[in-house]
Amino acid sequence: MKIILLGPPGAGKGTQAKSISVKYCIPHISTGDIFRKNISEKTPLGVKAKNYIDAGLLVPDELTIDLVKDRLSKEDCKNGYLLDGFPRTVKQAEALDEFLNGRQESIDTALLIEVPRELILERMTGRRVCLACGASYHIKFNPPKNEGKCDSCGGELIQRKDDNKETVLDRLTVYDKQTQPLVKYYKSKNKLSIVDGALAIDKVFENVCSILGEQ
Ligand code: ADP
Ligand code: ADP
Ligand code: ZN
Repeated sequence: MKIILLGPPGAGKGTQAKSISVKYCIPHISTGDIFRKNISEKTPLGVKAKNYIDAGLLVPDELTIDLVKDRLSKEDCKNGYLLDGFPRTVKQAEALDEFLNGRQESIDTALLIEVPRELILERMTGRRVCLACGASYHIKFNPPKNEGKCDSCGGELIQRKDDNKETVLDRLTVYDKQTQPLVKYYKSKNKLSIVDGALAIDKVFENVCSILGEQ
């Protein structure tokens, strides 16, 4: 199964991705997590990506597309994968289609998690993430069992530098301009499904499963 998760920052893509990945036994590929890992390890890719991410801008397509093609060519992607945060531009979506066409493959579903704007700021400023495994928590809506520690791996939870009000607002503008057009893109290819991301985390997951279960 090959799935794309679409939706604005704070929609709950990462949260749902962790559960989908376990249930359907497919790797969760988050370009944001890959960039953050590279930044913390100060790799050449991390050095290039850091300023864009801190400013709430997208990392250039060339860097991102090559990174994803590389990742999708790995052995663990043979039976499918879940893309979280990629594609984020029409150019990335076209590059992905071209890559898949060349392998006689295609995406099964682009799943859009919809949330009203007024929920996003509180979700983002209360988010805490585990740098080790990428799990995300919320101080109010999804707190970890032990404060500051990841339930899954025991890693330290941090607040992302780009999860402040000002950068979140910039990221939403970037989403509207550069990523939102993908909704139309996948709709025109009959690949789009939509879930209501305003519901509680478990309820959203139930609805996600009823969509993916039909595949
Ligand atoms: P995204 O990957 O789309 O940016 P996340 O999955 O990291 O979003 O979720 C953003 C924040 O909102 C996190 O703090 C997460 O715990 C919280 N969250 C996710 N889904 C829900 C939900 N359905 N209801 C309330 N809070 C949620
Ligand atoms: P969120 O889950 O809050 O939407 P991500 O963790 O997916 O955020 O992404 C964080 C940042 O990493 C983005 O604001 C952007 O700078 C960069 N990034 C992630 N994925 C991509 C992508 N596909 N193209 C360009 N930049 C990306
Ligand atoms: Zn963790």
